[in-house]
Amino acid sequence: MDRKTILVWFRNDLRIHDNEILLRAVERSQTIVPVYCFDPRYFVDTDLGTQKTGVLRAAFLRENVAALQRDLQALGGDLIITQGCPEEILPQIAEEYKVNEVYHHREVAYEETKISALVEAALWKMQINLRHFIGHTLYHKEDLPFPIKDIPDAFATFRKKTERESSIRPELGRPNTVRIPEGMDTGRLPSLSELGFSKTAIEYANNLRLQGGEQVALQHMNSFLYGDQDTLGYSRLSPYIAVGALSPNTFYHAVRDAEHTTLDKKRVEQIILKLLWRDYYRFMFKKHGNQFFQAGGMTGKPPASIADDQKQFDSWKTGKTGHPIVDGSMKELNETGYITHHQRAIVAAYLIYQLKVNWLKGAAWFEEKLLDYGPASNYGSWAHAAGVGSSAKDNKPTDIKKLSARFYPKEALVFGS
Ligand SMILES: Cc1cc2nc3c(=O)[nH]c(=O)nc-3n(C[C@H](O)[C@H](O)[C@H](O)COP(=O)(O)OP(=O)(O)OC[C@H]3O[C@@H](n4cnc5c(N)ncnc54)[C@H](O)[C@@H]3O)c2cc1C
Repeated sequence: MDRKTILVWFRNDLRIHDNEILLRAVERSQTIVPVYCFDPRYFVDTDLGTQKTGVLRAAFLRENVAALQRDLQALGGDLIITQGCPEEILPQIAEEYKVNEVYHHREVAYEETKISALVEAALWKMQINLRHFIGHTLYHKEDLPFPIKDIPDAFATFRKKTERESSIRPELGRPNTVRIPEGMDTGRLPSLSELGFSKTAIEYANNLRLQGGEQVALQHMNSFLYGDQDTLGYSRLSPYIAVGALSPNTFYHAVRDAEHTTLDKKRVEQIILKLLWRDYYRFMFKKHGNQFFQAGGMTGKPPASIADDQKQFDSWKTGKTGHPIVDGSMKELNETGYITHHQRAIVAAYLIYQLKVNWLKGAAWFEEKLLDYGPASNYGSWAHAAGVGSSAKDNKPTDIKKLSARFYPKEALVFGS
């Protein structure tokens, strides 16, 4: 066996199953040092006056990190939980445990990749390599029929070519045991107060209705596939996929398996299509980078907005616009951290086209509130809602009336004729 020590840097991949960095590190080393850092840069206010991470998502994240630690312990390992910037903390841990290499999953959005670059530079000074793995998408970048710079912007073309010319890899196995250095100091899970939340905010976190961790995620996935299915067909698995407690690849293969039992071909195709949208946004972020954080997005032509939009924005985010569907959805979002896709489409279109508020503010509010927040899916979807997204054909305003009439036949009348 290789006598190496490999540090496994967990980020949005908080699971044991189908986790390449964990599996490969265990295979290629004598001991591994699993680490999760609560990075203070994710617990600050944005320039738009919103929080980068709201208290519900912070509480959910804590649960998932704690669950990962328990799962690693069950395999004989453990997890070092720290609070601080990874580019400062990881080199210290690497030195302490004489680490030879660091493994992590590559991210796509600007802030995340910047942090990876800082870590890479700090490790490089110690002559330690940061090895990048792909693990967040169904399709591996290397398996795509085109390099990132040539990925078609049109979603339909991306989908057609990818499905025709590329394939999804099989699910990876789990390590049976995890060996860590003797006496490894595992740190401590920071409290919500240590993460900067006020007493009132912390009380609000009692609203969290989802338990964290991969075991809950896998149970939830199985009851979605084999239990009584939500009539609208929403799995509500997105919070688990976003923190990585559920691998999208595992979900994909489980959906394919269910095709032979509980799901018909059409339902399977619908779910896979959604997972493909998720891949698409991540690849588009890799291709177009920061353009997704600009009001003009990909087209350079932001939708018309009013100059002083704070009042309208406040009424929208607190659910006080006077429109029951929008208000009900916003209250639900604020209370639970989740609303369905059609609710997101309705409230986004309402903010942009009825209230004429800068869409970046809406995206920032979702960033604070959503349990499943991910930069690519969120800003990619908002950019499309605002008509400035990467897939020109999908840059069309949501027909609020039609969508509301379908999902809320009674309340839809308030949108008028
Ligand atoms: C304005 C707006 C903002 C959004 N922000 C986010 C976000 O921050 N994070 C996020 O995960 N999704 C986001 N979505 C996409 C989508 O609404 C959610 O993924 C979905 O509602 C999650 O619910 P579910 O797990 O029941 O999804 P299902 O319908 O069960 O779909 C299965 C999985 O596919 C993925 N998925 C589904 N639809 C999409 C989509 N349109 N784009 C990308 N991935 C998709 C999710 O991982 C989801 O769990 C946003 C959509 C809109 C319109």
